[in-house]
Amino acid sequence: VTRQRILFGEQLGPMFDDDEEPILLVESLAAFRKRPTHRAKAHLYLSAIRHRAAELGDRAELVRADTFREVLTGRDLVAVDPTSYGARRLVRSVGAEVLPSRGFVTSEADFAGWVRGRTDASLVMDNFYRWVREREGILMTRGGKPVGGRFSYDVDNRQPPPKKAETLGLPEPWWPEEDEIDEQVRADLDRWEREGVVHFLGADGPRRFAATHGEAQEALRWFVRDRLPDFGRWEDATLSGDWTMAHSLLSLPMNLGLIDPREVVDAALDAYADGSVPLNSVEGFVRQIVGWRDWMWHLYWHLGEDYVHRNALGATNPVPDAFWELDAAAIEANCLSSVIAGVHEHGWAHHIQRLMMLGNFALERGFDPAETSEWFIGAFVDGTPWVMPTNVVGMSLHADGGVVATKPYASGGAYIDRMTDYCGGCRFDPKVRVGEDACPFTAGYWAFLEKHRERFAANRRMAQPLAGLGRLKDLDEVVAQEATRTRW
Ligand code: FAD
Ligand code: SF4
Repeated sequence: VTRQRILFGEQLGPMFDDDEEPILLVESLAAFRKRPTHRAKAHLYLSAIRHRAAELGDRAELVRADTFREVLTGRDLVAVDPTSYGARRLVRSVGAEVLPSRGFVTSEADFAGWVRGRTDASLVMDNFYRWVREREGILMTRGGKPVGGRFSYDVDNRQPPPKKAETLGLPEPWWPEEDEIDEQVRADLDRWEREGVVHFLGADGPRRFAATHGEAQEALRWFVRDRLPDFGRWEDATLSGDWTMAHSLLSLPMNLGLIDPREVVDAALDAYADGSVPLNSVEGFVRQIVGWRDWMWHLYWHLGEDYVHRNALGATNPVPDAFWELDAAAIEANCLSSVIAGVHEHGWAHHIQRLMMLGNFALERGFDPAETSEWFIGAFVDGTPWVMPTNVVGMSLHADGGVVATKPYASGGAYIDRMTDYCGGCRFDPKVRVGEDACPFTAGYWAFLEKHRERFAANRRMAQPLAGLGRLKDLDEVVAQEATRTRW
C-alpha cells in the first residue's frame, strides 16, 4: 500500500503539503448531514476541495463517500493533526502517523509552554496577545516596547457609524470569478437536494469567498489596499446597507487552511511600514488574528471537549425555527431580521452582528448554548467545531461562567441604536421598555439582568448595570411582559 497524506477540508493550502507524497482528499456527505448546513458553506468546502485536487493533478486521489472512516480505514496514512476532537480520534483510530497541527501563528506546544506555571486568573486573551506580540516581534520597537506605546488601540476603534450614510463608501471587496468547478458543485448540490440526500439552509448565490490559495492571496491584497486603513475606526459599527463594512472576509480562507495567518498578518504589517495604514487599524486587525483567532483555537483544546455543554446560566430555550430556517420575514425586530437575512444570503455576518444581534439575543432569551453553537456552525460558512464553542458558549452566552469573557455581553436597544442604523426603520422603539413598541433588546436586557441579579452581584464589572436595574420603576411589568413575549 502506498503511503498517502490525508488532507482534511480545513487543510487545503500549500502549508499542509510540504512533502512529495501522494495526497488523499475526501468529500464526505455525512459532514453536511450532521446538522442543517448553509448551502454556500457546502459549496465553498466542495469547491475548495475540488480546486485543490485539480491543482495537485495526478498526485491527488479524490474520493467521494458518505463518511471519512470508510475511506480512511485500511490505508497507510500520514495526517497533519486535524482541527476537531472527532477528527483527531479518527486519524488515531485508523493508525495514521500524526504530525503537529498547523494553520495558526502559535503552535500547540508553544501554548502549552505559555500556560505552564500560570494561574487560571492570568489565562486571559490580553496576556496571551502581549506574549505573542513580544515573542514574534510584531509591532514592537527595538527596545522591546509596543509600537506607539500601547499594546491595544481598542479605545480608538469604537466609533459609531457615519451619520446618514448608507455605506462606508469603500470600494467593493475582491469577489471571486466562478469557474467550471463551481458550476459542477452547484449541479451536484441541486441533485442532492432534489433527491433529498441533504437539506441545506440559505441561498447559494455567487461565491463570495476565496476557494484557493491564489484567490486568498488576491482577497488579502485587495483588503489591505482598500479596507484595512478604515478597519479600526469602523470595527464596532454596523450599517444596514453595507454588509461587509471594512472587514476582511478572510476567516473562511484561513479556516480552510488556504492561507497562513502569518502571511495575512505580514501583509498588514508591510502596509503599516510603508505608511498606508494607521496604527489603530493595523493593531486592531493583527489582534484579531494573533490574539483572538489563536486564543480561541488553543482554548478549544485547553478547555476540553465537554466545554460546549457548559450552561452556567441554566439556559434551556430551544433555538427558534426562524433561526434554523433563516427566515427573516418571521422576525419583526429590524436589527435581528436584517442580520438573519444577511446570513440567509451569504452564510456570513460580521463580528458585531454576530455578537451584538445574534449572540446578544440568544443570551437574553436563554437559548440552549450547545444548540446555539450547532446553529452557528451550520449557518456560517466559516463555522468550524473549534471556533464556535468559545465564541458562542463563552463570549456570547456566558455559559462558561466567565472563562472567556469576564462579563456577559448583554446590551439593550440604546447601544444598538448608537452603533447601527437599524432602529430608525424598526417597528419597535429602543427607548421603550413596556407595551406594543417595547424593544425586545431593551426589555430583554433588563429582564435578563433581573433573572440573574444574584449571580451577577458578585461580579464587580456588573455593578453599574445592576445599579441601573435597581432604579427601574417598571421592572415587574418588564419581567412579566418578557416572560410571555411571542413577537420579536
Ligand atoms: P475580520 O473582522 O476581518 O477579522 C480578521 C480575522 O480575525 C478573522 O478573519 C478571524 O480569522 C479573526 N477573528 C476575529 N475575531 C475572532 C474570534 N472571536 N474568534 C476567531 N477568530 C477571530 N470566526 C470564525 O472564523 N468562524 C466562525 O464561525 C465564527 N463564529 C462566530 C460566532 C460568534 C457568536 C462570534 C461572536 C464570533 C464568531 N467568529 C467566528 C469570530 C468573528 O466574528 C469572525 O472571525 C469574523 O466576523 C469573520 O469575518 P472577517 O474575516 O471579515 O473578520
Ligand atoms: Fe433592534 Fe430594538 Fe432597534 Fe428595533 S428598536 S432595531 S429591535 S434595537
